[in-house]
Amino acid sequence: MWDSLVRATADNNNIRVSAAITTRLVEEARQRHQTSPVASAALGRVLTGVLLLSWNLKDKGSITMRVLGDGPLGGVIADVNAQGQVRGYIQNPQVDLPPNKHGKLDVGGGIGQGNLYITTDLGLKDTYTGSVALETGEIGEDLAKYLVISEQTPSLVSVGVLVNPDLTIAAAGGIIVQALPNGSPEILTKIEENLQNLKPISTLIKEGNSAQDIIKLYLKDIEVKFLEEKQINFNCPCNKERLEKIMISLGKDELEDIINNEGSSEVKCHFCNEHYYFTKEELEKLLVEASK
Ligand code: ZN
Repeated sequence: MWDSLVRATADNNNIRVSAAITTRLVEEARQRHQTSPVASAALGRVLTGVLLLSWNLKDKGSITMRVLGDGPLGGVIADVNAQGQVRGYIQNPQVDLPPNKHGKLDVGGGIGQGNLYITTDLGLKDTYTGSVALETGEIGEDLAKYLVISEQTPSLVSVGVLVNPDLTIAAAGGIIVQALPNGSPEILTKIEENLQNLKPISTLIKEGNSAQDIIKLYLKDIEVKFLEEKQINFNCPCNKERLEKIMISLGKDELEDIINNEGSSEVKCHFCNEHYYFTKEELEKLLVEASK
């Protein structure tokens, strides 16, 4: 089964729901960045959160989520495009922490205090960035706060990652339920009641529930209209050509420095941890371009 993103509505389009299974996506991120369990959980929740926000993208553009806290994990950054391609990284992937007082991975302690930023680029001229101060650093609550304050829609966000004892990802995914202003307040209350009786979302996913099943569980006894299902995957558009352009943009002096001091150069893409190697001959060609 591939990872998927499902969208649905209820209450005459006044309730909007996105749910995603991201187990494979988070496992790929873990392998690429060699993350510790708590770093896998933090990065996985941010990857899942940004994916769930991609509701607003039509056929182009991107959404970037940045969680910048003062905790030992450092910043967590992820983006998604309209095709459901997601990528992301965490500043200190190897940091490991003792469990929190509930015996869970201490994502909030690892993130610390700071801000959450969402940048929306609809592929038009301007981009829009909104931000809120982090509530708990656990990502779900922070994203819900962002949606309430910045988009003024009461929202319920659950994102979760379950890590196996061998550090691989057992389950990951999330759901966002948003209530638009004209909706019936009773429905949100009903959804909150449903939530009281549900296991954590990562457990529901581990038990084999699909994104549709999760939506049906959260919106139990409410009529749901399913709109679309999309396959999603970890994908970074970086390639050597793009890296060459970045190297050229460093300028003539910087390139000369690299050639004289190091001879060759290895450049890493932050988002996907892919390494690109430039030989001395290649760097000299780039120097010619940069000198034009
Ligand atoms: Zn990349």
